[in-house]
Amino acid sequence: VSVYIARENSPDEPRVAGSVESVKNLKGLGLDVVVEAGAGLGSRVPDAEFEKAGARIGTAADAKSADVILKVRRPTAEEIGGYRSGAIVIAIMDPYGNDAAIAAMAAAGLTAFAMELMPRITRAQSMDVLSSQANLAGYQAVIDAAHEYDRALPMMMTAAGTVPAAKVFIMGAGVAGLQAIATARRLGAMVSATDVRPAAKEQVASLGAKFIAVEDEEFKAAETAGGYAKEMSRDYQVKQAALVAEHIAKQDIVITTALIPGRPAPRLVTRAMLDAMKPGSVVVDLAVERGGNVEGAEAGKVVELGGVKVVGHLNVPGRIAASASLLYAKNLVTFLETMVSKETKALAVNMEDELAKATALTHGGAVVHPAFGGANG
Ligand code: NAD
Repeated sequence: VSVYIARENSPDEPRVAGSVESVKNLKGLGLDVVVEAGAGLGSRVPDAEFEKAGARIGTAADAKSADVILKVRRPTAEEIGGYRSGAIVIAIMDPYGNDAAIAAMAAAGLTAFAMELMPRITRAQSMDVLSSQANLAGYQAVIDAAHEYDRALPMMMTAAGTVPAAKVFIMGAGVAGLQAIATARRLGAMVSATDVRPAAKEQVASLGAKFIAVEDEEFKAAETAGGYAKEMSRDYQVKQAALVAEHIAKQDIVITTALIPGRPAPRLVTRAMLDAMKPGSVVVDLAVERGGNVEGAEAGKVVELGGVKVVGHLNVPGRIAASASLLYAKNLVTFLETMVSKETKALAVNMEDELAKATALTHGGAVVHPAFGGANG
């Protein structure tokens, strides 16, 4: 079985779907590994390091003979043309709203797995790319905020005077938000956080941050069986906005991470709220790629609105690419491991397995995922 770790051709993607460790792991499973030349450069892994780990360095032409192609992003039409029919492609497929691209993978005869559709169950925890990348994004958001902020985060008592601790407010206390809380606390900030899921309250408190939320009857029922947030009612949103408006005016840094699966990100910070903040305050919108939590945030830009810097970096895990690639590569290896026979070292993909079933977009020339038009998923 040959595995091909592709170079990402998008200039916006410094991550790579492999690491020195993952190559060793794949070799350990009895697989041949080819890494496309230069694939690791954006994540500081030179070809020679992959080679030392047991990979052969190849070119895009080698993809044609690969049984399994590992990527960060969904392959382009051109890349698909370089794969053989029947090959497995595993990537972060960004499937929502991309039906044509999914159909193209089906037409090419690829078995395409979308890593972000991995079920959030104990068995799949080490394959959970949303968690591995959101964790780093939460950390990086604080680093980016600190970078844009003209003051220190920790309180500093010096002979020349005292610098007050920064007040940091984290909106959305899921994987990214909890890591942002922990990071801001380590830097010495005074941290508060909000969420609509009651389970978040205890988690926020356990990290030493203050929990702020409208805790009404709707809040008590806001978590879905899958652990995600529901879209809140108009009535709740109004109450939440009033609470947030009052709190936000006193904050120096706000980091928003709120998402609702399959829906646009909820709007949590309005222009009026930004205007109420002190000049020099910083707001980081981690949801900017999904429509944004912050009014006026611009994808890929840092904009100044009424004296407040609003940070809308794209691909935030990619800003910490070496670490992001390391964790992503591990997610891939543990998933691929479920598809390789320990005895024969051959591919033994069970499309009925709950992990394969949840993540498979295309197989046998058809779209198979029910959420994307497949009938027999
Ligand atoms: P997410 O990225 O979908 O959303 C981020 C956060 O925003 C969530 O905490 C959500 O409740 C919050 N949010 C949504 N709407 C909001 C609003 N209007 N106002 C304020 N906050 C709002 O979430 P996530 O980080 O992927 O985590 C979702 C859940 O899944 C969490 O409970 C997490 O602990 C759980 N999880 C479980 C596993 C596992 O069991 N394997 C793995 C990872 C995460």
